[in-house]
Amino acid sequence: MTNHPPVRMPDRRVLRIFAFDPMASRLSGRFLPLSIPFEAGLGPGPSGELIQVVDYDSAHDTWYSPVDLDDPFLLAQNGLRPSESDPRSHQQIVYAVAMSVIERFQRFTGRRFRWQGDERLRIVPHAFEGRNAYFDPDRRAVLFGWFRADETDTEANLPGQLMFTCLSTDIVAHEVTHAIVHRVREMFTYPTNPDVYAFHEAFADLIALFHHFLFRDVVEAAIAQSRSNLDDAEALFSLADEFGRATGRGGPLRSAIASDRSGPPDPRAFTQSTEPHTRGAIFVSAVFDAFLTTYRDRIADLRRLATGGSGILGDGELMPDLVHRIANEATTNADRLLGMVVRAFDYLPAVDVTFGDVVRAVITADRDLYPDDELRLRARLVESLRQRGIFPPGVVSLADQALLWQPPQQPLSLAEGMSAIDLGELVRESTVKLDQTASVEGSPERTRRLFRQARAWAKTHAFELGLDPAVGGIQAHDIHVAFQTAADGQPRPRIFAQFVQRRLDLEKNDGVRIHAGCALVAAVDGTVQYLISKPLPFTDTTDAPEPVREFVGEQDAAGTSRLAGMQSWFAAVAEADPLALWLEEPAVNRLSFARLHEEAGDDSEGEAS
Ligand SMILES: [Zn+2]
Repeated sequence: MTNHPPVRMPDRRVLRIFAFDPMASRLSGRFLPLSIPFEAGLGPGPSGELIQVVDYDSAHDTWYSPVDLDDPFLLAQNGLRPSESDPRSHQQIVYAVAMSVIERFQRFTGRRFRWQGDERLRIVPHAFEGRNAYFDPDRRAVLFGWFRADETDTEANLPGQLMFTCLSTDIVAHEVTHAIVHRVREMFTYPTNPDVYAFHEAFADLIALFHHFLFRDVVEAAIAQSRSNLDDAEALFSLADEFGRATGRGGPLRSAIASDRSGPPDPRAFTQSTEPHTRGAIFVSAVFDAFLTTYRDRIADLRRLATGGSGILGDGELMPDLVHRIANEATTNADRLLGMVVRAFDYLPAVDVTFGDVVRAVITADRDLYPDDELRLRARLVESLRQRGIFPPGVVSLADQALLWQPPQQPLSLAEGMSAIDLGELVRESTVKLDQTASVEGSPERTRRLFRQARAWAKTHAFELGLDPAVGGIQAHDIHVAFQTAADGQPRPRIFAQFVQRRLDLEKNDGVRIHAGCALVAAVDGTVQYLISKPLPFTDTTDAPEPVREFVGEQDAAGTSRLAGMQSWFAAVAEADPLALWLEEPAVNRLSFARLHEEAGDDSEGEAS
């Protein structure tokens, strides 16, 4: 007998995870439900289309048996009950959090997320013994460590208790974000200036922090407890609280608001810091400052309504209805701000990113979708970044118009002239990947063909893109169409492409790679709207065709100063690296995520994640 009508496959799968901090644990019985897309045919591991959990513990040379989330008993009770002593529940948690982070990323960027070559990200929940967790780009894996809690700490953990970094929602979200950033901006693994790794860290922290807003109960509890004054909602704005306590620091690993407590922000903190977590944390605190200011604006009317016009809340608990309505505003606002930052990704340069570039990317991307800035979110964000010394050098004002990326100097189209790209095929390919019910599938061969076309197009238009046609080595790193949703509710299809050129002729035989790069944003008819270039000096500018000769001259000058800037940064890294004298390898190549996340002593900020 078969079911008639057939039972539909569920859309969502709900899995239980550990609450991300002790406060939340008290509130919701230590577990939080996390809703993620239901993957059909999810294998034991879990092993899905995007994520493969591999549970090999090298310290004990043991394979832990994999959880099967499609087991009927587990389907009936939102997965396993999380438990420190059951490795299968650890596998469930890393899978759930990773899928949730990827889903959010997809939703904001308006496209289907895939790892390179359709491979999967491997997650190893018990990879090694140590107070660390990191993303390894070479193995395309996220590795989590475990350790014994600090003997002296009795506040939140049992002294000497076994701690697993893979059980911290914040740490998992942070590390998976590193992998996503690496996927969409591969060249950001080359630390060509102090902002590159700091941006990686800042972005990973932002995703982890804003992830807290997915848990409605936690947000409502924070609002009730702080009487709507979220400046005091420590739990909502702190990362890896339990991990922080277990490593003997008596508090969270990082907090988005703590650094603002001592008075107005000091822009020198940003200009003087080079350590990636410290520098990144300043960007994070600017975003949260903008969040809090706009949140206060958004709830002002609710407070007035609740207080007969005064806006001053009386003593006693807030009414649950009011808490509920304020929580709506808080989560909407969090979504809007996080969306601003995530969508900016497609507007970032292909190489050598700076926080100034990030500001321009955020403003350009957001203005395309929300031209009015009704809630003044852009203005608030730019202002709170400016107060901390984060703004693009060389812009004449901080108004939207001055911060936007520029169109190419001469009209440029992906679809015209020699080596035009088949945009019909590109749009179709990207659309098919978004539609899971489509009968035609995306094809790797078609994607490869499009990349070949894009590369040929870039070679033909090298001068116009700020790349050097004389030395070769131009690669297409990305070309895709995304459908982001605008303020009017309509999708805005846009083509995004990235080109990278390795400049062997400018390298010094010391193993440090030198790249020029260019990212562009085009309408679906192929007209390039923004050109975001990171040039290098040209070998010969006299060949440049007349219409772009002036542009090439400017790119050449900008490239010369960028190259000089990179070289002095490499020298500074070598000087600060105690191993530089003893090793042939250049110091800057020894910077890696593993090192960045290593424990570096008690007073260091550079501990895990
Ligand atoms: Zn990190």
